[in-house]
Amino acid sequence: MTFSIHGLAVARGIAIGRAVLVASSRVDVAHYFIEASQVEAEIERVRSGRNAVVHEIHRLQASISHMGPKEAPQELTALLDVHLLLLGDAELAEGVKHWIRDRLYNAEWALTTQLEVIARQFDEMEDEYLRGRKADLEQITEKVLRAMKGVASPVLVAPSRVLRKPSQQDLLLDDTVDVPLILVAHDLSPADMLQFKQSVFAGFVTDVGGKTSHTAIVARSLNIPAVVGARLSSQLVRQDDWVIIDGDAGVMVVDPSAIVLAEYGFKQRQGELERGRLSRLLHTPAVTMDGQKIELLANIEMPEDAPGAIRSGALGVGLFRSEFLFMGRQGRLPNEEEQYQAYRRAIEGMQGLPVTIRTVDVGADKPLDESPQDTAHLNPALGLRAIRWSLADPAMFLTQLRAILRAAAHGQANMLIPMLVHAGEIRHTMALIDRARVELDNRGIAYGPVKIGAMIEVPAAALIVKVFLKYFDFLSIGTNDLIQYTLAIDRTDESVAHLYDPLHPAVLRLVALTIAECRAQGKPVSLCGEMAGDISLTRLLLGMGLRSFSMHPAQILAVKQEVLRADTTKLTAWAQQVMSDDEPGLRILRQ
Ligand code: PEP
Ligand code: MG
Repeated sequence: MTFSIHGLAVARGIAIGRAVLVASSRVDVAHYFIEASQVEAEIERVRSGRNAVVHEIHRLQASISHMGPKEAPQELTALLDVHLLLLGDAELAEGVKHWIRDRLYNAEWALTTQLEVIARQFDEMEDEYLRGRKADLEQITEKVLRAMKGVASPVLVAPSRVLRKPSQQDLLLDDTVDVPLILVAHDLSPADMLQFKQSVFAGFVTDVGGKTSHTAIVARSLNIPAVVGARLSSQLVRQDDWVIIDGDAGVMVVDPSAIVLAEYGFKQRQGELERGRLSRLLHTPAVTMDGQKIELLANIEMPEDAPGAIRSGALGVGLFRSEFLFMGRQGRLPNEEEQYQAYRRAIEGMQGLPVTIRTVDVGADKPLDESPQDTAHLNPALGLRAIRWSLADPAMFLTQLRAILRAAAHGQANMLIPMLVHAGEIRHTMALIDRARVELDNRGIAYGPVKIGAMIEVPAAALIVKVFLKYFDFLSIGTNDLIQYTLAIDRTDESVAHLYDPLHPAVLRLVALTIAECRAQGKPVSLCGEMAGDISLTRLLLGMGLRSFSMHPAQILAVKQEVLRADTTKLTAWAQQVMSDDEPGLRILRQ
């Protein structure tokens, strides 16, 4: 039966394929396709992993049997029996073989996929005792996965293998191999999401998350359709269901009928045509009808994103979120050399174009790890985040500052400081930058010049922008946080996502104030929050005087099209009117 689940649209486009349910705790399991010739070897890997666990349980049983009836815990004996029973379960074994043989999933992926299928059956059981066996199933899967570790697939096929686009006919005929796969998960951390940069998936859906959560931001950078905040999707969708993701409307359609499939197939082709049309603008300079040159820059997460930024026509990187280098490393921070090499790769990858490296912004929804200490704070977005985290650990911060300064010797680099609020923090930061230079001088290590900028992402900073301009060469407006902190809306919480409003008059006033003050003092100002890539806001931002936009590379051409059609001489007065409205959103909707 066809049904749809509504969430928040985060990355545009239509994806049609089969659902792959991934438990949030198992996203680190490798997902890749094997060659048909590897099938038997891959099945053997699971079999020997399973046999190793069975052997271990038999060993335990033997040692228990030597104990007296008092020492041998009854529960343990029963538990081991249950584990053996589950390990011998035909549905588990047959299911795993099916995913490997028919879908060419690697062994770990096949095992966790079948785990999800059976876990769902346990969830639906009436009997509480049987329901509780799900935990045992998870435990034995974990053990088999562990036993399989170290025994790699014979040949690892590049995970970025391009899937053949299925025809409408394939979809209706229920073709099983080479069909796009849609990842459905309860939640994914930004670091998890990053793992999927080179992945087999053609779309993403998560139950939780806000539109500008970092998970959504990374999903957007993957440039494949994605929906977040689609509550219960991971419970309502079954492994292998046909699903459609409409990343424009923020909807997932499950088990679509032939008519619905045909309709979305048409929409998908329209999208491809539109992308084809936009690609013709690649070499067209972004100049408005009245001759204003507009700078369109890219936001990137990893140095490897630089070539993609160039291909999308970006004139530089306006925001390199360096924190992604720090995440998912079990708390071990990258040292100066690792960071220097990474920043250098980004700078060289941009082939002489400027790269703005933002100093680390961890905390809030970007914990370094999934460790409980990292998530224990009640209000992490208001806590030790971004520059506060850096200033709290000067040695760590100095390491990053030295690495950036050294990388700046290889091209045009700017340094951007996130989440500053107090003049005292600014002075403290500047003193540490000076100290980093002195340390490099003392070590006789070369470094380059950098322009230093601040992010305006807290209302307090926007309101004292004049103070910021005394210290900084340029400013960059981080509207994702500026909206969060102005409207008191947690940007990661889908239950308040409807109140997350870039067009709230208070937000617009803070943005306008920052732009106006920078322009008055002749200092460059850019906007690097998600607003920059939202084509429904391009004209308004131009009217407010913004001339530099930094966004995901995938959005650059669409924004350029808006720029080419705009006449700023007419937009200035209009933008003033919009800002004086009680509900500017209504006027923008009507435009
Ligand atoms: C912002 O807050 O707008 C921004 C660009 O930074 P981040 O999204 O990484 O918090
Ligand atoms: Mg921010």
